[in-house]
Amino acid sequence: MIAIKDNIAQVKLQISSACQHAHRKPDEVTLLAVSKTKPVEMLEQAYQAGQRNFGESYVQEAIDKITALQNKSDITWHFIGPIQTNKTKLIANHFSWVHSIDRIKVAKRLNEHRSNQDTPLNICLQVNISGEITKSGVLPQELPALLEAIETCENLCLRGLMAIPEKNASAASFIQMQQLFLTLKTRYPTMDTLSMGMSADMQHAINAGSTLVRIGSAIFGARN
Ligand SMILES: *Cc1c(COP(=O)(O)O)cnc(C)c1O
Repeated sequence: MIAIKDNIAQVKLQISSACQHAHRKPDEVTLLAVSKTKPVEMLEQAYQAGQRNFGESYVQEAIDKITALQNKSDITWHFIGPIQTNKTKLIANHFSWVHSIDRIKVAKRLNEHRSNQDTPLNICLQVNISGEITKSGVLPQELPALLEAIETCENLCLRGLMAIPEKNASAASFIQMQQLFLTLKTRYPTMDTLSMGMSADMQHAINAGSTLVRIGSAIFGARN
């Protein structure tokens, strides 16, 4: 019970100190608690500790938790996992944010299924910044086509970019993401989110201007 609360406090300290080091304000960085594979009781503990943004990667597991916690209406749910086209309706109907868009088809389907909701779905485009063959995300040179398609999607709100730099990535990958983000932001004024940084690389990410860190194991413990 105490551990999750302590872990969140510890992560917030790390965020503050990374911000201080980068000459940034701690409130520029949102903490997203990544609760995939963890039981709903753990999310409740995080909620009791004041956590309100939760990230999930598996659709059915996430919907079970969203349903179990529906009385906590101030939770914001973020989908951060790979997206199968046959799950787009469920995602569009249950989440406020989707960070992992990397295909025009997926964007269009999310847009269609969001249409009877009142608020647009907040989206980030996932960029494969390390150019890993097996990893999801668009290559930077593929971004213009995806952005162009999204401009016609009125039920989506383009909030920014997301990246999962490879393990032990150098600071250069993070800086490259920052540059992409800053360049696109001048053209797309709704962009305010650079979703980058996990338990192991939070400092690099915050140094490179991340505005949202996605933290799982440092809060909830290692996953099986
Ligand atoms: C699991 C996951 C995280 C959290 O990773 P930790 O190393 O446990 O902090 C962040 N982002 C994405 C996309 C994930 O799938």
